[in-house]
Amino acid sequence: MQLACYCGQAPERILEVGFTSEGSLVVHYWCSACSRVLFTSLTQEECTHFVPPVDAEAAKRSSDADTEFLQSLGIAAGE
Ligand SMILES: [Zn+2]
Repeated sequence: MQLACYCGQAPERILEVGFTSEGSLVVHYWCSACSRVLFTSLTQEECTHFVPPVDAEAAKRSSDADTEFLQSLGIAAGE
């Protein structure tokens, strides 16, 4: 997943990661260059670009799998 601010800076910190009721992945992050919070979202379809479809199915059934999925993206959830 590519996270980048409008200014082109990579985010300094991931603030929050969650899923919408539609199953989209939402990431809030902080850009220190702009001093503002930004967010990006990925639909389930977009998420399957990052993980094999079978893993995406497993992630929907298991919160443990969700955590592993996020860690595979380099995101530590709930920390
Ligand atoms: Zn920025």
